[in-house]
Amino acid sequence: MTDAIRPLIAGNWKMNGLKAQAAEFDAMLNGAADVAGKADLLVCPPATLIAAFAEKARGKKAAVGAQDCHPKVSGAHTGDIAAEMLTDAGATAIIVGHSERRADHGESDILVKQKAEAAWRAGVTAIVCIGETQAQRDAGQTLEILRGQLNLSLPDASTAANLIVAYEPVWAIGTGLTPTAKDVEQIHGFIRELLTSRFKDEGARMRILYGGSVKPSNAAELMAVKNVNGALVGGASLKAADFLAIAKGC
Ligand code: PGA
Repeated sequence: MTDAIRPLIAGNWKMNGLKAQAAEFDAMLNGAADVAGKADLLVCPPATLIAAFAEKARGKKAAVGAQDCHPKVSGAHTGDIAAEMLTDAGATAIIVGHSERRADHGESDILVKQKAEAAWRAGVTAIVCIGETQAQRDAGQTLEILRGQLNLSLPDASTAANLIVAYEPVWAIGTGLTPTAKDVEQIHGFIRELLTSRFKDEGARMRILYGGSVKPSNAAELMAVKNVNGALVGGASLKAADFLAIAKGC
């Protein structure tokens, strides 16, 4: 890690995890103290496990987060979960705008921004995901797409404490493919420039996570790139040994 910003390794369990997998989370908690010198740890299980995991994580060196929230506080929204419900269950951060939600649920940048504000309303940090698709990359539109997503998905009141950006190229998610370190450096540098020009000092201190096929074998190289302040890890966050190995790479 090249910057003075403390890295965050966040695990996104997606739609994986039953009560029976709690032992894997226990193993993460057991190893968390060993990596606490290197990075903050956050695990975002499915909503059904947040309360149980938050209870286990109490007093330990890892926090529990959520993968999505509804923008409203309450109301007639069957199946949805408000940010306040997630924090009530023990979530300390909420991922919003993941590309799977943008694709599967047609979430727009404007909705993502409202969800980030909902996370703040509930008193926790929003992790806003951005990233280009393979087709957009092939068309040479990566920077333009990222600029648009950042402009529209990040609320004006974003600070280094209340907002984390996760750059996740869609083509790298779950595919085993990753951009080269040089590409990551260029893109994270571009994101940093936009954040700093809009949010000044706060933008200079905001965490920018890289996500997309991060695993123990590539984590150290990716985490060493300038302006990479941690990782959002999907598949490899389901196994305690892999997740902790990634954090050790910081
Ligand atoms: P992956 O997912 O690590 O399995 O590629 C990353 C993510 O979608 O957050």
